[in-house]
Amino acid sequence: MVDMIRVTRTAAINVMLSLDLFEARDVSERAARGDAEAIAFLSSLFPDTEPCLLCDEPVGAEGTIVMFPDPKAHGWAIVAAECLRCGLAPASSA
Ligand SMILES: [Zn+2]
Repeated sequence: MVDMIRVTRTAAINVMLSLDLFEARDVSERAARGDAEAIAFLSSLFPDTEPCLLCDEPVGAEGTIVMFPDPKAHGWAIVAAECLRCGLAPASSA
């Protein structure tokens, strides 16, 4: 049997936050429109040293966030840090 599954464990510990889904959508839409308060809130969620959810590299000052509805907690969004490179990759568009 061919080994089709590879499990990768890294030393990086990714932080995932839970936000109220409505608030999360509202604040990300406002940030996309250039609302300074919303942008400041989102950039305060993770430090520049936070490892990217996908590649474990520090997200840096230009890092972005990824959020998606929590399938296990209705009404909540999971929010994680993502580096700009992974954020721009087509496969990760949320
Ligand atoms: Zn990345």
